[in-house]
Amino acid sequence: MYALQKSIKLNHVRYDVRGRVAAEAEKLAGQGIDILKLNIGNPAHFGFEAPELIRKSVTEKLSQAVAYSDSRGLLSARLAIADYCKAKKIPNVSPDDVYTGNGVSELIAITMQGLLNHGDEILVPAPDYPLWTAAVTVAGGTAVHYICDEQAEWNPDISDIKKKITARTKGLVIINPNNPTGALYPREILEQIVEIARQNRLIIFADEIYDRLVMDGHEHISVASLAPDLLVVTMNGLSKSHIICGFRCGWMSLSGDKTGAQDYIDGLTLLSSMRLCSNVPSQLAIEEALKSSGGTDASLLPGGRLYEQRNYITEALNSIPGVSAVKPKGALYIFPRLDAGRFHIKDDEKFALDFLRDKHVLMVHGTGFNWKQPDHFRIVYLPEINVLKTAMDSLGDFLTYYRQ
Ligand code: PLP
Repeated sequence: MYALQKSIKLNHVRYDVRGRVAAEAEKLAGQGIDILKLNIGNPAHFGFEAPELIRKSVTEKLSQAVAYSDSRGLLSARLAIADYCKAKKIPNVSPDDVYTGNGVSELIAITMQGLLNHGDEILVPAPDYPLWTAAVTVAGGTAVHYICDEQAEWNPDISDIKKKITARTKGLVIINPNNPTGALYPREILEQIVEIARQNRLIIFADEIYDRLVMDGHEHISVASLAPDLLVVTMNGLSKSHIICGFRCGWMSLSGDKTGAQDYIDGLTLLSSMRLCSNVPSQLAIEEALKSSGGTDASLLPGGRLYEQRNYITEALNSIPGVSAVKPKGALYIFPRLDAGRFHIKDDEKFALDFLRDKHVLMVHGTGFNWKQPDHFRIVYLPEINVLKTAMDSLGDFLTYYRQ
């Protein structure tokens, strides 16, 4: 008989995106109930297709991918990524500074494992993509959340960041464009964040997986381009822009000033080597993929699916009494607010569960993104407008009678 307990660190980890509400949805689906899933940013589930060229370049070269690659990845892929960094004005990135990963997810975990000792702190946005908080916790560190301000288009609250720095703070995470809010940070905000990192010698971790999913003619600025004198770890990948989530294809680049960081870099190289290498067939997609901005391009323009769906969902949410939402500028998500006084919601996971059981629509509650108050939720607006409309009609109706 085993007497096994999970690691004590895991008792503090939440990953609600695939948690209790999602499990209940699976159970209902198993009973033959149709569930409308607005919970995961998986474009291939909603009729978006990976570009033909990408699929071809992988299948045609598959026989070259049967061996392990360099633990950081194929040189051809890393050269393409280094060129991409150059195009984004990310300074001082050679192929040796690039590591491919089984999705950005794996690299988030590696960067935290390689850095954190017990009690070290990382500044993480609230709301966040919850893998960041989970990865910090699993690595033995403490995620300290700084507020992103809904009143200021969900931009990071600079004074809150300053207040939360301590002698134990080692790094700061920026998710831009943001999951779950859809915010895109302007240059002035990024510059202020860089200045804080500069003054406190913090590593910046920039999760830019949505950098090619930007609308309304806005330009995405890589924060690393503003910080040539700092160590910046920039993450990116093809899951969303090229609709190949299942390939597990991501990378990170180490840019800027690396003096004093050799020990950390050696740790990252060790952790990278311990998994031998990332999935080689998916690395074959990178060179071809980075020649274009992705399979979602046309979709981001007026008349395109993502653009029109974003407009629809924003208007539909704002027309429901007691609901308001900031219009996203990028990514695939919107993070609406519920009027807490009106609906008396004390437990937003219960709200998501009740809505699921009643209306068969699955979405993720805001506290699942480390947002403290139970007054938000996240919607993935990937489905076609007619499907989103069904979901919004259901939500509007549900909120006429739902009170906790
Ligand atoms: N970072 C953010 C902000 C995400 O939203 C996601 C996935 O939704 C990831 C990282 C993980 O992406 P990948 O598929 O590359 O592991």
